[in-house]
Amino acid sequence: MNQYDFVVIGSGPAGRRAAIQAAKLGKKVLVIEQGRRVGGVSVHTGTIPSKTLRETALNLTGWRERGFYGRAYRVKQDVSAEDLRRRLLITLDHEVDVLEHQFSRNRVSQLRGRASFVDRDTLEIVKEDGEIVHVGASAVLLAVGTRPHRPSNIPFDGKAIIDSDEILEITELPRSMVVIGAGVIGIEYATIFSALDTAVTVVEPRDTMLDFIDKEIVEDFTYQLRDRNMKLIFGQTVETVEKDETGKCTVTLKNGRILHSEMVLFAAGRTGATDTLNLPAIGLEADNRGRIKVDPDTFQTSVPGIYAAGDVVGFPSLASTSMEQGRIAARHAVGAPAQEPPQFFPYGIYAVPEISTCGLTEEEVQQRGIPYECGIAHFRETSRGHIMGLDSGMLKMIFSLKTRRLLGVHIVGEGATELVHIGQAVLNLKGTVEYFVENTFNYPTLAEAYKIAGLDAWNRMGELKRD
Ligand SMILES: Cc1cc2nc3c(=O)[nH]c(=O)nc-3n(C[C@H](O)[C@H](O)[C@H](O)COP(=O)(O)OP(=O)(O)OC[C@H]3O[C@@H](n4cnc5c(N)ncnc54)[C@H](O)[C@@H]3O)c2cc1C
Repeated sequence: MNQYDFVVIGSGPAGRRAAIQAAKLGKKVLVIEQGRRVGGVSVHTGTIPSKTLRETALNLTGWRERGFYGRAYRVKQDVSAEDLRRRLLITLDHEVDVLEHQFSRNRVSQLRGRASFVDRDTLEIVKEDGEIVHVGASAVLLAVGTRPHRPSNIPFDGKAIIDSDEILEITELPRSMVVIGAGVIGIEYATIFSALDTAVTVVEPRDTMLDFIDKEIVEDFTYQLRDRNMKLIFGQTVETVEKDETGKCTVTLKNGRILHSEMVLFAAGRTGATDTLNLPAIGLEADNRGRIKVDPDTFQTSVPGIYAAGDVVGFPSLASTSMEQGRIAARHAVGAPAQEPPQFFPYGIYAVPEISTCGLTEEEVQQRGIPYECGIAHFRETSRGHIMGLDSGMLKMIFSLKTRRLLGVHIVGEGATELVHIGQAVLNLKGTVEYFVENTFNYPTLAEAYKIAGLDAWNRMGELKRD
């Protein structure tokens, strides 16, 4: 039986970063992956496919140019599912190639198969051909991620009634679609398909969506979606989903309302992939959504030497944060000190339009009783925005009136997920409103919105009294 210093189960962002970190510290590392190719949900069904799909949809439809040339403008008439898939396959091949290269360069061993615990120090791996292998591990990282939640009352058929994994396999673009669930994944796909001219209806049981985002940003976003005829139904639960013999879907809501569509995307939650790990063998258990509890500083579970990181530990469930969690877990597992991550990390929602945010929302600032001022800039106020033909997009910053420090930055619109990093740097370096007022920004850029929003707040806050 081969013995390893560190065994990682799962090759998604958390597992990949952890394995490479431990290998760089000179440890003997093994990554076990049940999928045919490395990369995890992030590469094969989540982050990268959805973002590639988005990019292809925006390019082929000419979405970014419509502010200039009008809503009827199209780069390619009749975009097909095949058009979308072509770019997807090329991107995924490239991602897998880069990852395989990273593993081999860092001498990380790999095994393909499904892993489960025999005991605290031993794992059993069932390979695809049925062969069973055992390996010994001084420390183990569970980076098994999640899979779509599939309730038994939804008649998934992989064609017309699908989950967010199956959406990548569709052979025709639907003319109409009901999206059940207005979480990040549901909203991203709903808005991407709406950009592809699919008539989209979103059904969400809660009265609001994206509750963790600044309310003013969500209001602006919601307005933009409704303005382009997306139907957003809040506060309503789905009673039944059915498909008739012609393939048409009917979604009946609890209030009796009936929605017809060619496709139904069920995107209401994900479940941790912990059910096959035989966790009881090591005295560990997952919650009712398959999630594992960890110490938030080290990502160690209640069992010493067993770590968990990434989506399997819950919020924020991002590829970006999963990587950092994996790195911290690996360092702790092999006895290397790990720096605490900065207080604020960015959250990106790649809807159309994008949303990105870092730090406190206005609602959180109010709850904490901090006296504050906001600065707002609309992209249409920037010269870059004029050149790009942008008629929407806004950037909002919140500053403490007491310390003048930036407390939060919130953006909706083109480039939001890139732009947010300027705000993130100022936040984590504890910068004040003066940073934006006193510094020069490239011109013409969308980043100029920082200057405009900074000045907007500064004008109301008054000048800094310097000695
Ligand atoms: C549609 C969608 C869009 C997303 N968009 C973004 C985005 O834009 N930005 C962002 O930051 N995040 C995004 N995410 C989230 C991101 O994909 C996840 O946060 C990330 O993939 C989690 O990484 P992970 O390392 O926890 O595991 P995963 O990427 O989930 O990988 C887990 C791996 O473990 C393997 N595995 C599971 N059980 C076993 C076992 N018993 N034995 C062996 N192998 C096993 C699985 O096969 C899988 O390959 C998106 C997710 C989805 C679904």
